Amino acid sequence: MFKVKFADIGEGLTEGKVAEVLVTLGQEVKAGDPLFFVETDKVNSEIPAPVTGKIANILIKADQDIVVGEVVMEIDDGSSTAASKPEPTPAVKGPEVKEEENASVVGATPVSNKLITRGLPKQTTPSACEATKSALADCAPALQEGNGTLPPRKTNFQAPNPEKHFDVIIVGAGVGGYVAAIKAANLGLKTLIIEKGAYGGVCLNIGCIPTKTLLKSGKVFEQTVHKAASFGIEISKDAKITVNWKAVIERKEDVVKKLSSGVLYLMNKNKIKHIEGVAEAIDNHTIKVNGETFTTDDLIIATGSNPRGLTLPGFEEAEKTGFLINSTHALSLPKLPKKVIIIGGGVIGVEFASMFASYGSEVVLLQGLPTILEMLDADLSKEMSKILSSKSNITIVTNAMIKGIEKNKVVYELDGKEIKLEADYCLQSVGRKPFTEGFENIGLKKAGNGYIEIANDYCQTNLDNVYAIGDVNGRLMLAHVASHEGLIAVNHIARKKGIAHAEDMKMEFERVPSCIYASPEIATIGKTEEQCKKENLDYKAFKFPFQAIGKALADGDTHGFVKLIIENKYQTVIGAHIIGNRATEMISELAVAMESESTISEIAHAIHPHPTMSEAIGEAAEALLTGKTLNL
Ligand SMILES: Cc1cc2nc3c(=O)[nH]c(=O)nc-3n(C[C@H](O)[C@H](O)[C@H](O)COP(=O)(O)OP(=O)(O)OC[C@H]3O[C@@H](n4cnc5c(N)ncnc54)[C@H](O)[C@@H]3O)c2cc1C
Repeated sequence: MFKVKFADIGEGLTEGKVAEVLVTLGQEVKAGDPLFFVETDKVNSEIPAPVTGKIANILIKADQDIVVGEVVMEIDDGSSTAASKPEPTPAVKGPEVKEEENASVVGATPVSNKLITRGLPKQTTPSACEATKSALADCAPALQEGNGTLPPRKTNFQAPNPEKHFDVIIVGAGVGGYVAAIKAANLGLKTLIIEKGAYGGVCLNIGCIPTKTLLKSGKVFEQTVHKAASFGIEISKDAKITVNWKAVIERKEDVVKKLSSGVLYLMNKNKIKHIEGVAEAIDNHTIKVNGETFTTDDLIIATGSNPRGLTLPGFEEAEKTGFLINSTHALSLPKLPKKVIIIGGGVIGVEFASMFASYGSEVVLLQGLPTILEMLDADLSKEMSKILSSKSNITIVTNAMIKGIEKNKVVYELDGKEIKLEADYCLQSVGRKPFTEGFENIGLKKAGNGYIEIANDYCQTNLDNVYAIGDVNGRLMLAHVASHEGLIAVNHIARKKGIAHAEDMKMEFERVPSCIYASPEIATIGKTEEQCKKENLDYKAFKFPFQAIGKALADGDTHGFVKLIIENKYQTVIGAHIIGNRATEMISELAVAMESESTISEIAHAIHPHPTMSEAIGEAAEALLTGKTLNL
């Protein structure tokens, strides 16, 4: 008989209330099936069955308070004959920790079964998976079933040549692939990584890092020219402040080179076998590169994405003449454009608009939709649109229907009228497409738009031993998502192999922060207010402006606000949206708050240092908690 105990569900919680019992006496349950729902002041959890069997005894009912360690049910799993009586709740007085044979389970993760005495400090115990090899054996079946959603792992693969066989092969050394490789090596997996281009992929070479480097130079120039006087810095009338574009590009290349070569250094430091070449999958265990064949237990595809382009009249010709460029070209232009047209008002389009404008270029942003950054909380996209439009050298045209390109003119339609606009360059930033060449013939399931579909939160594909991480799975095309997914996939692979210190991580797309590094910056996480309304959620939102923050005044930049959204029942943050100077640095606090399901009182009570921009988070939290602000 398996005694199911209410386990330590984390968050430092030692008790909860049974919200609903989800099984009945005599019911057959499989390991992982939900047994009951528990509510605490921080989390609500569905507690799954740790074993397969028949419900022999239910010792709880709805609304009952339970404590960690309490026996809540008995499941006849064939291990003994009779159902036993419930064990008494642990005594309050002693700190002893009583070891039990059977581990309780939360989600897919067996957790410590050690009893925690109410009112005394929690014993820090390793999770059951980490604690012992025998506990690992318990968790392996659940893992192999992929949390009940995937077929059991095939174990019959025979490596033809052990020298050329790896625990994991990773294709693509972008931020997804290279971080996965380091983690795999750290976990003791024999790892091979293959890269056909530059180490660090898009992010380090032609994405995040070079754009931010160019944005920084532009900001320095803009501040010197337009803001120095407001800070009391005088520049004499005859002083010439100019952009040395060549030097700007050289600085960017220097930064990129340092980081990209740093990746190669990390591969060597971690003794990861790496090959430069184009990888091709022969089957889900076999990879060919530079004419050589390697085999692997598990394969991680981290091949990333390329810019997408429109196929409209004149576009192909304009690409050949160099008038039509993409984000990669825009990072290395031979000269700073006087005027640039940007097609696409998404994240990349807005960052480039902000970047070119900061150097003094005239920018026209053509957006097909009624607003730029339409995926954002409407308060942010409106504010961003207002701030960008207030700059003398940025024009935003919404609802612009692009018709084509004629030489160095972009043709578009607005309110039924055709308009032809001339510029030095036209940058199109209309999204990206997955890079899946070489993986066409192994039976991978693709989503309608060509991305490799992931079947679960571990980034496994429809092929049990093949994982797709980063841009290639098309879920959220961000660098930190790619590397986080890499960690998840590798930990999952290591757990399948019974590696004790591997962790059970899962991808939670609702908790991914995303940032826009324009001027001002934007950073968001969780639900927008529009989503809350659409989903009929019981929520509350508050916006605290940076105008009332001392640090913003000292920095000479009071644009923007912090907007927090909480749900009313448990008062946890479900959305956070920041626009303003340093927004991208501030969002991490809210990412941690969401990950740990902090309540708004915990955020309000956390001491925010003064003077910082993050005081606006504390102020917004205070307003949501008490209905009143302090400094407004
Ligand atoms: C201009 C721009 C700015 C951006 N700014 C940000 C930002 O500020 N923040 C952010 O989070 N994200 C940003 N992104 C997005 C971010 O760069 C990507 O989400 C991230 O790089 C994806 O990483 P990845 O590892 O999935 O793929 P990639 O970085 O694309 O790496 C894939 C690698 O696989 C290699 N490869 C492909 N096929 C094969 C093969 N068959 N054999 C061998 N090697 C192969 C490629 O050469 C490449 O190096 C930006 C993107 C762009 C374009």
